[in-house]
Amino acid sequence: MTPPRLLALVLLALVGAAADAAPERPNIVLIVADDLGYADVGFQGAEDIATPHLDALAAGGVRCTDGYSSHPFCSPMRAGFLTGRYQQRFGYVSNVPYAPQNDFIGLAKRETTVAQRLQGRGYVTAAIGKWHLGASHSYHPLRRGFDHHYGFLGGGHDYFEVDLSKPVHEGYKDALQRDGQPEGLDGYLTDRLSDAAVEFIDARAGGERPFFLYLAYNAPHTPLQAPDEWLAKCAHIDDPKRRTYAAMVAAMDAGIGRVLGQLEESGVRERTLVAFLSDNGGPEKSNASDNGPLRGQKGDVFEGGVRVPLVVSMPAVLKAGETYREPVNSIDISCTALALAGVPIEGRPEFDGVNLIPFFKGERAGPPHRELFWRKGDGEGWAVRSGKWKLLQMKGFDPALFDLSGDVGEAENIAKAHPDVVSELLAAYSAWDADNMEMQFPSYREYHEELGEVYREMIGR
Ligand code: CA
Repeated sequence: MTPPRLLALVLLALVGAAADAAPERPNIVLIVADDLGYADVGFQGAEDIATPHLDALAAGGVRCTDGYSSHPFCSPMRAGFLTGRYQQRFGYVSNVPYAPQNDFIGLAKRETTVAQRLQGRGYVTAAIGKWHLGASHSYHPLRRGFDHHYGFLGGGHDYFEVDLSKPVHEGYKDALQRDGQPEGLDGYLTDRLSDAAVEFIDARAGGERPFFLYLAYNAPHTPLQAPDEWLAKCAHIDDPKRRTYAAMVAAMDAGIGRVLGQLEESGVRERTLVAFLSDNGGPEKSNASDNGPLRGQKGDVFEGGVRVPLVVSMPAVLKAGETYREPVNSIDISCTALALAGVPIEGRPEFDGVNLIPFFKGERAGPPHRELFWRKGDGEGWAVRSGKWKLLQMKGFDPALFDLSGDVGEAENIAKAHPDVVSELLAAYSAWDADNMEMQFPSYREYHEELGEVYREMIGR
């Protein structure tokens, strides 16, 4: 046997031995839906919306029954998600106003994003879709750790139209951006986001460097708009609002199917972490979403505002068809990705999330967190969950206690029967909140109503 041939065999054996272990610097694909209801995908029990690709993703990985967003609405959740921290740590507790000319409002520049950390580990990074973390020059995704960007910088976008006649449109029709250059929109936005994701993965084929794709669909956030082709496939739904919503979800599912297909085609599916979740609970009234048995909707600290569909899949590491029932948080997903890329997480105060892999594999017992916390604004609503207990307070009311093990709909306030639990959770919440910053910028509404004049002056209109 010639030495090169022997070497090749030894290398093959080494590759074989390594196949069972966690791959070094795996690829990472984090997919976020916008305002998707808890019960609106097949793997969560939806019967009127077909989501075959997401269902296959869930069947091939770990479905979290008690998966949570770190915030009941869009922008703060994304700030937490892209830092691995509770966004309250840096005062990000309201929706960032869409203010391309204001260079002081966005994800705090002193925070290090997950993308920056992954760049530091040699990753090629891309943000595709909705940003909503500051729309001005220095908050741009290309300056926050992403090598590539395609999408829009605000909190939502029209699915069919772009108005290129104005440099800054106040509505949802601003030009799309591709790596800093304005662009029109041909066809359906959800399809174009899927295209960009597929192209990014395809372009990495055979590359030496691992990749990180943050794919943030705005579907099924309003405006409710869907192509005729998908509306026709949802013709069995009588309510036109729900029909359009379902068509938007189904179109997103098809796009995710294409992304997963490209990972297979590129030969990297086994060693790619793919996670899917919604950024918050469904706003049932505005987009006809359905949070199933959960009380409340987007904006609430009730379960309907924060509990979301959540799936994690990585065939080389995680068994298929698992269901995980301990509470987990969206910030855990980013910390899990970082841990897989070799960034130390445990015991570091700059992270609030944990690496979920050992918990999913049964190597670590018990819940990943003693408590999970939520707070919006400067305390207009907050909640803490510990085990089966959830304590929740809306401004102006006494704290309410629920036992989620028998009352997932949070119907019966049992605070009076368990004063010890109430005081324990109250103390835990106060201790957590003591490390938080107060709100750092005005909400979208305050900004545009109270500062609207200043804003219009700034943009010269
Ligand atoms: Ca949202």
